[in-house]
Amino acid sequence: MAADDTFRYRVDQPPERNRPQVDALSEFVRSQLCNLLDIVVPCSGETEVRVDGFKLMRPDGVVHELYDGQGRPGEITRGSGHDANCDLEGYRNIANARLYEPRIEYIARQLHDILALVELESEGKPVAIDGFRLKNHRDWASSRVECASDILMHASSRCDLNCVFCYNRGAIDSLAWHKQSPEKELMEIQTRLSLYNASGGTGLFPSYGSPCEFMANPHAIEILGELRRKTSATLRICTNGTKLEESTIARLEEVAPVYLDVSLNSTSPYRRSALMGDDHPETAIRSPALLKKYGIPYSVTVVMWPFPSLEQALEDLATTAAYAEDNLAVLVQVNLPGYTRVFTPRPPFDTEKVWRRTVEHVQGLRERVGCPIVIRPSLYEENLTRDRKNMAEVIGTVINSPASKCGLEPGGLVAMINGITVANRAQARDLLTILQGNGTDSGTLTVRKGGRLIELEIQPADCDYPFAPLTGTHLGAVFMGTGLREEYLERMRNILLARGAREVLLLSSTLVKPTLEQLLEDNPLYVPEGTRLHIEVPENDSFGGNIILGDLLLVQDFIDFIKRYLRETGSRVDLILIPSSPFYLGGWNRDLSGRPYLDIEREVGIPVALIECDPMWD
Ligand code: SF4
Repeated sequence: MAADDTFRYRVDQPPERNRPQVDALSEFVRSQLCNLLDIVVPCSGETEVRVDGFKLMRPDGVVHELYDGQGRPGEITRGSGHDANCDLEGYRNIANARLYEPRIEYIARQLHDILALVELESEGKPVAIDGFRLKNHRDWASSRVECASDILMHASSRCDLNCVFCYNRGAIDSLAWHKQSPEKELMEIQTRLSLYNASGGTGLFPSYGSPCEFMANPHAIEILGELRRKTSATLRICTNGTKLEESTIARLEEVAPVYLDVSLNSTSPYRRSALMGDDHPETAIRSPALLKKYGIPYSVTVVMWPFPSLEQALEDLATTAAYAEDNLAVLVQVNLPGYTRVFTPRPPFDTEKVWRRTVEHVQGLRERVGCPIVIRPSLYEENLTRDRKNMAEVIGTVINSPASKCGLEPGGLVAMINGITVANRAQARDLLTILQGNGTDSGTLTVRKGGRLIELEIQPADCDYPFAPLTGTHLGAVFMGTGLREEYLERMRNILLARGAREVLLLSSTLVKPTLEQLLEDNPLYVPEGTRLHIEVPENDSFGGNIILGDLLLVQDFIDFIKRYLRETGSRVDLILIPSSPFYLGGWNRDLSGRPYLDIEREVGIPVALIECDPMWD
């Protein structure tokens, strides 16, 4: 494939030096090694080896330390290239590349270091460079593309609204948008589609950050058509609804199966306009009826922003949920409102009060509204209202789904599926997924409700709009979030046995800790006597505000917490355990800012092991 200017990155110029640096060549090697160790883990056989220094192969035998206790090598040898203003002159944001494809940042750093030592020449004359571009896109097309719809996010760098709660306000550099014209986005999507292997699930590395509104791209429908020619998979689109006129919805039907998450927020034109800055709120408000008419499944999303007052917002939620039910929405998703310190220096509301009242209100609504209503983060609701966590309790069923048709009701606890005892929510969801996908005609659900066990016969094919096997999940049963898998404990135990650690610091989150403690109480780890596990929760200082999702913790939050913990408790710690999910997004074990998790042990000087686990965004 010919090179084009789609993937260009800037190289920071090395600083001017008045006099030669002491041992600049050793510094050069040190930097090269550090750069490399941010993207590879050296191994000896199958065993991972941690490297913290090097010797040059010459007689002096001097050992040079790689890290200076700050986790990062000195400035002079570490070309950052992390300037979020790389959009200038068409360069892409390297802070974003370090998250999704850190080998690009590696190249930028290497070039920076090399340019500190040599000048490049062309035809006998020095040439200055300030950037580079990817030569052959095919060389970069082996990344995992989790789902076809992810490609759409590369055309989502703009929005036609201005929500008071917009999560993109003050996004960190790595997630900030590389803004391009709609035409350039279309070209990029075409490049991506040409390299997308739908059956293998691979393609060009992603670089979208935190997406805005895909439907605001004037080429959105054309892009969907091109994507549909590449894959038969369900295309999931998040939209604020401003473009959902009947003509657009009819075009969406042509590329079915599609599933829409409509950020409606309110069926009150006044409230939607005030919250989202929508001058024509009636288009989005009418869209549920049209989506129903065209048979397109969708969910309705509401951010519970307490405007103009909490009680008025809750009343409005009841109206919106009833409207969603009338128009056969798959579910209503109620997001507990969040804000970061960048978003606002002063809390815009009392989080505890707003979140608690919303949970109480939604629990009441579930008794009146037939459409399932889920709260995000769901663990907040569970911690607040359930003594036993992680249970396979059904909180709703999708209208006309196999689950609702077989008589599964909210409040029921799934005890067995086809005779297999269900221990927790994650297992129930897995078994229902198998039942939905294995082509069987019927299955048996044993449900505990009101002290009685009830047997229900469920028929996976017995469904109608809005549920469809291609777009629906868990046969239409809706639970309070994903739940925690018991196998995580087994992974934790294996790490402890392999490392032989005795004093172990396990870092969790406010939301997950209660479930984790319950799991550990129910399933002792059986590790050598004397092993002590201390479960602690770092604060999210990076984002600040009321952010409590563990998966949003950054490497610096972990470092700051561990240093403080060691200082304040005077404890000895042999090993630090952290769930892998905060380092999941780009697939390179880096936090959302693109920083490798290994920086934690480089800075605190204690080994860190990740417990492999799925992200828990819900
Ligand atoms: S619709 Fe989404 S991206 Fe657009 S302003 Fe609102 S929250 Fe932000």
